[in-house]
Amino acid sequence: MAGSVGLQIEGLYAGYGKATVLHGLNLTVAPGEIVGVAGPNGAGKTTLLRAISGVVNRSAQTLSFEGIPLKHDPVRSVSQGIVHVPEGRRLFANLTVDENLKIGAIGAGVRDYESSRARIVAMLPAIEPMLHRKAGLLSGGQQQLVAVARGLIGTPRIILFDELSLGLSPTAVVSITKVSIDSCRELGTSVLWVDQNVTILSKLCDRLVLLRDGVAVDIDLSDKAALNSVYF
Ligand code: ATP
Repeated sequence: MAGSVGLQIEGLYAGYGKATVLHGLNLTVAPGEIVGVAGPNGAGKTTLLRAISGVVNRSAQTLSFEGIPLKHDPVRSVSQGIVHVPEGRRLFANLTVDENLKIGAIGAGVRDYESSRARIVAMLPAIEPMLHRKAGLLSGGQQQLVAVARGLIGTPRIILFDELSLGLSPTAVVSITKVSIDSCRELGTSVLWVDQNVTILSKLCDRLVLLRDGVAVDIDLSDKAALNSVYF
């Protein structure tokens, strides 16, 4: 069944102009699976997500989702159920949280906005008191939650998170990443989550890979020494 194969990447090359960042990367994300990607600065984590959502030039032997090849076209990726939550949240600062969510819903082709919003607010209750506040006036952690809610409002098949933990306090890292990943699990949305924070990735992901030299290598989550050595 096409729906059972999830994200399949074989031999992915991607980069910028003549600079190749990913050198024949292989990776899969099964339906409903939560996969973390660690790696040092500049390893190509963001480039990987951009290659999947079709915003950088890439070539691959296989690059498909649910059996359908991914085109170099971000709009088409969204219609295939792929949502990219970029680093830095990228909210519309002068619009309210509700308006930001509505824009996410329109982009995802949601027909009944009110009930989609009610479902997201039930999973991420901290959103409710912010609905009528301007997004630009919220704290970094609150903005991150709104970015996650906006990404999930159309119940994507897979969500690509770029640095969910970036710029959050140690307590916010734990609470915000946990409620975000729990929401994905509840919706049955697969996750590909790149982050510098190996500790939080290893706590919340089903599987972890390390991006190094342009390829992805599996890391054994029970191997503490391997986890500790990711950045050394
Ligand atoms: P970080 O953890 O610091 O965010 P990363 O693992 O996400 O890093 P990328 O942002 O994917 O790494 O960058 C990989 C390489 O591609 C780096 O050498 C970077 O300088 C380069 N790069 C990133 N974006 C561009 C761009 N728009 N144009 C040219 N080179 C770029």
